[in-house]
Amino acid sequence: MNDVLNICLPCGLCCDGTMIGFVQLDKEEVPVIKELMDIEDANGNGFILEPCNSYCDGCTIYSKRPKQCASFKCGLLKSVDQKELDFDSAMEIIKEVKQKKIALEKKLAALKFELKSQSFYFKMLELKKLLLKKQCESTLTQNHLELLMDIEQFDNLLSKEFDLSFD
Ligand code: SF4
Ligand code: SF4
Repeated sequence: MNDVLNICLPCGLCCDGTMIGFVQLDKEEVPVIKELMDIEDANGNGFILEPCNSYCDGCTIYSKRPKQCASFKCGLLKSVDQKELDFDSAMEIIKEVKQKKIALEKKLAALKFELKSQSFYFKMLELKKLLLKKQCESTLTQNHLELLMDIEQFDNLLSKEFDLSFD
């Protein structure tokens, strides 16, 4: 097993709804993937909503996973692949992201926001929009402002290390 596969196994941040909201399926692969897992299917336009129901400490349909999953490489993975970043440093970055995500979820729970979104990714998008609206209306509290800054810092980390963002 090489380092590239090794970092994806303990990471899973693109399958668990942290960094990506959905995976688009090609029309021709919809019937095949539908046999393997529950998907969203709107008039033949199939997609998988994250957190993916095939994710359980790794992809449970790995050899038959959708094309978009098989071809996807985040910035971190590319850096390891191109030997610009070593395995241990990549694992430290993944650990940092997971810790920051837990801290954000705790703050979010304490502030009791009622969000419609299911995944962390869509929650962050929804929350960012909501907090920016509050900022425009001058109804942002200190706690809200701190949360907004935390989301922006988290977003910057994703953008810098993974080449992904909530925008
Ligand atoms: S976020 Fe990147 S390193 Fe993590 S599982 Fe996805 S592709 Fe692999
Ligand atoms: S099908 Fe597999 S690789 Fe694709 S999002 Fe789901 S768990 Fe991840």
